[in-house]
Amino acid sequence: MKDDAYHIAAIVLAGGRGKRMNTNMPKQYLQLNGYPVLYYSLKAFEKSPVDSIVLVCGKGEENYCREQIVEKYHLKKVKAIVQGGQERYHSVFNGLKMVKDSDYVLIHDGARPFVTEEIIENNIKAVICKKACVTGVPSKDTVKIADVDGSVAQTPDRSRVWIVQTPQTFQTDLIYEAYEKILKEPEIHVTDDAMAVETALKQPVYFVMGSYQNIKITTPEDLQIGEIFARNSSNG
Ligand code: C5P
Repeated sequence: MKDDAYHIAAIVLAGGRGKRMNTNMPKQYLQLNGYPVLYYSLKAFEKSPVDSIVLVCGKGEENYCREQIVEKYHLKKVKAIVQGGQERYHSVFNGLKMVKDSDYVLIHDGARPFVTEEIIENNIKAVICKKACVTGVPSKDTVKIADVDGSVAQTPDRSRVWIVQTPQTFQTDLIYEAYEKILKEPEIHVTDDAMAVETALKQPVYFVMGSYQNIKITTPEDLQIGEIFARNSSNG
């Protein structure tokens, strides 16, 4: 499906502490149906047209990731394991430094185990013509913006509200430039990669359809739901 003239890299992020899970072990290493959360997304990228994967993990977790995940499950596309940073965007930039030679890069939360090869392929197809893409799904719920006093400030038209997921996929030089600018301005805090491009470069970012199963494992109830999805996963 992809032109082999392109090198397509993926950065899989596992450098967070997962404080909202309230477990000693970071959430990306907890088990779902007998496999670590992080294994599932790495396996989806391994089976996809992506050429290489950089895994970003917490300080001191490199050996664990190499031995207990990458080697154990024969994930041959993982070409580097690097240390993350204080915030998600620091971790992304550490990963980006390793993929500077690629043409396109998919950035994915390792805490989203149910990304599919189809979502990955749709991101690749889209980025080749659009340069910057974000996976998402239309919101099922009405969303309200809160005011500082706890009252409702705004209710956006639900038909235009999307819930954002990962992967978020970019022409590599574009996202690198966006993050270089963001990191020079400490007052700007971006919570996703699309926001880096929107804020630093003022360039359009296009939606790619994700899936309602592409959840981020964040709180204990996500593990219960994830267990059910994991039992039906083609990667389990
Ligand atoms: O904390 P949150 O759930 O938003 O994290 C999303 C993803 O980013 C997770 O996969 C987490 O491991 C990763 N992350 C990271 N480095 C950080 C914070 C989060 O790689 N400093």
